[in-house]
Amino acid sequence: MAPQLGNCSRCRKLYLRIRNICDECYQKQEENFLKVAAYLREYPGSTIQEVSDETLVSVVEIRQFILSGRIIMGDFPNLTYPCETCGNLIRTGKACKSCMAQINQLDQHTGKEKKEHSHEKGNKAGGYITHYL
Ligand SMILES: [Zn+2]
Ligand SMILES: [Zn+2]
Repeated sequence: MAPQLGNCSRCRKLYLRIRNICDECYQKQEENFLKVAAYLREYPGSTIQEVSDETLVSVVEIRQFILSGRIIMGDFPNLTYPCETCGNLIRTGKACKSCMAQINQLDQHTGKEKKEHSHEKGNKAGGYITHYL
């Protein structure tokens, strides 16, 4: 596919779509990542809030680095990030366990209303969550 014009998902600027953000934002994001990575290397016991305060990179952006696998949680015992839905601090997946359970329930209700009894055994978010542990 040939690159098309699109709006950058970070700054809304019109740009040639070769990645999902424009070059300027990409550069900025890389700088931010290096700052965060350098800070964590020096202070591996930091929380996400401390990292954000010290590097001036937003919690949301640090969370993206974590979710995209660029920051490995296992190396940093105090690092947690907010659940996508309720803001509870979590270390795995995109949402906390109770939000995942709710999302799963919603899925089950929309798709399988007739199979009320069958969801007892293959239940909830267990598989998904352990996958990320
Ligand atoms: Zn941009
Ligand atoms: Zn939640």
